[in-house]
Amino acid sequence: MSTASTSETDHPSATPKHFLEQWIEADHAAGRTGGKVVTRFPPEPNGYLHIGHAKAICVDFGMAKEFGGECHLRLDDTNPSKESDEFAQNIKEDIHWLGWDWGDCFYSAADMFDEMFEIAENLIRKGQAYVCFLSQEEWKKYRGIPTEPGTPSPTRDTSPEENLRLFHEMRDGKYADGECCLRAKIDMASPNIHFRDPVIYRIHHVPHYHLGNKWCVYPMYDFAHPIEDALEGVTHSMCTLEFEVHRPLYDWVIDRLDEMGKLVVRNGVKIRPCQREFSRLNITYTVMSKRKLLELVERKLVCGWDDPRMPTLCGMRRRGYPPEAVRAFCEGVGVTKFISTTDVSILEQCVREVLNRTAARRMAVLNPVKLVIDNMEEGQVVSCDAVNNPENPDAGTRKVVFGREMWVERDDFMKDPPKKFFRLSVGREVRLKYACLFTCTHIVEDEKGEVLEIHGTWDPASLGGNAPDGHSVRGTIHWVDAATAVKLPVRLYDRLFCVEEPDGDSEHDFKEYLNPRSIVKTTALCEPSLQVFKPGEPVQFERLGYFVADSKDSADGAPVFNRTSTLRDSWAKQQGKGGK
Ligand code: ATP
Ligand code: MG
Repeated sequence: MSTASTSETDHPSATPKHFLEQWIEADHAAGRTGGKVVTRFPPEPNGYLHIGHAKAICVDFGMAKEFGGECHLRLDDTNPSKESDEFAQNIKEDIHWLGWDWGDCFYSAADMFDEMFEIAENLIRKGQAYVCFLSQEEWKKYRGIPTEPGTPSPTRDTSPEENLRLFHEMRDGKYADGECCLRAKIDMASPNIHFRDPVIYRIHHVPHYHLGNKWCVYPMYDFAHPIEDALEGVTHSMCTLEFEVHRPLYDWVIDRLDEMGKLVVRNGVKIRPCQREFSRLNITYTVMSKRKLLELVERKLVCGWDDPRMPTLCGMRRRGYPPEAVRAFCEGVGVTKFISTTDVSILEQCVREVLNRTAARRMAVLNPVKLVIDNMEEGQVVSCDAVNNPENPDAGTRKVVFGREMWVERDDFMKDPPKKFFRLSVGREVRLKYACLFTCTHIVEDEKGEVLEIHGTWDPASLGGNAPDGHSVRGTIHWVDAATAVKLPVRLYDRLFCVEEPDGDSEHDFKEYLNPRSIVKTTALCEPSLQVFKPGEPVQFERLGYFVADSKDSADGAPVFNRTSTLRDSWAKQQGKGGK
């Protein structure tokens, strides 16, 4: 079962079919799927999922959904030294968050180790695999270079009986890590280096997070992956481009499984899994390699895998990215074989588009200066109606109060404004959003010229924000009532790196490009209704950006707000690219 919780991004017929869709469609129509398209998403539980995985998930689950089939979640847990149950659990949580479900189709490579071992024994019996004692350096040297044939291992022609005995000794712990390995006997002269008797089983004296000390030999990816696909009855195995050169080996293993009668038969059709490759997702201003992400976490350069600046799905969730925005982005970038890098501002725009529709509006001031309405009585309280979400009439309005003193943003006032500055300045009129019109008469400054207070008058007949005589007022600013404002902690997040391709050059370490201003901790003066925001609930601070109540650090009645994004692409503006 493959379902996405909402369907607003699902309109497969609106766009031309990509090459994977065409491939699956043709196989399905030709009867090669036995009536059911089966795909899989095969993460290794050695890290957290990131936005690149989200693309693979949307392709794997999306194709299964489109063709009415199923997508298996399979943990490709064949390398125990880096895997853990923590990673496995988080992978499941992240896929569900993204809106996909594998139903009862959950698999783990480890559950197939017994069968994989038997398949390896079968290969040995047929003279198609042998135990090799070359060291790793020797093995690489013997393998050679693509343009010249390699050198056979001295044990390449050992008898099957002897190989079987040695392989069992490997399993029984007689050898140390790296002392020997099992290799498939294919072709030492092949121009494809992966075909030159690849290693298919290695010794690794490390307990498995799932099976404990049961094994000290583990299958290699190139051997395990096609077996997993075949035993699960997967019809279409989609992966990233780096596996294209491994495909002949994938097919070689499938052929051997076919000879052994191991292929699943569905509705009378023998299911022969096929692999195709698409280009991986790269985005600007971040790194996506698990190794580099792990380094950031281990060196405490970020606050964990779910730090809101990380490109991980748990980081994006905490940052306030809605799952439908991530799906829309993955769908938008499309599926091709071209290696490319996508501008992160496209992802940010997808996030804004969703939040614009869904996030409630509230007022908060980040960099406050006092505004005093001189013609209002001390203690006077006026109430006005504020719109909760102009994009959603059902969200209604709320009452907001104000009095003689308010907080407004310091940048909304200028002493010597240019002509096109429509906000506060002595002698000018602005609209205090939802409240009234206000004319600035004078300011109070300190000896350094820093503005301490902005004074002026209001017109009570403009309550609600419209001029009673209908004249137009260009500038509208947000505000917070000083008597009732609450102070709440806010974290202004920005991009984690300050260059487009932090891992793009060999002279600098990617960590040198960390953006020193990627987190700025501050306090916002907020309208009181912001206190009741629940962890994970999004909000637009009017004119400032989208925020979300942090899912870890917020307490009941005391939210901590993370900035999800600014309202516009401020990076494009800085770099003279315009932006919206
Ligand atoms: P590793 O370096 O540990 O192999 P990985 O990122 O390939 O890391 P896997 O857990 O093996 O991690 O990935 C699971 C699936 O996600 C694979 O099919 C892989 O091709 C796909 N995938 C990984 N990164 C990306 C990416 N940037 N874009 C698209 N698909 C990706
Ligand atoms: Mg991988």
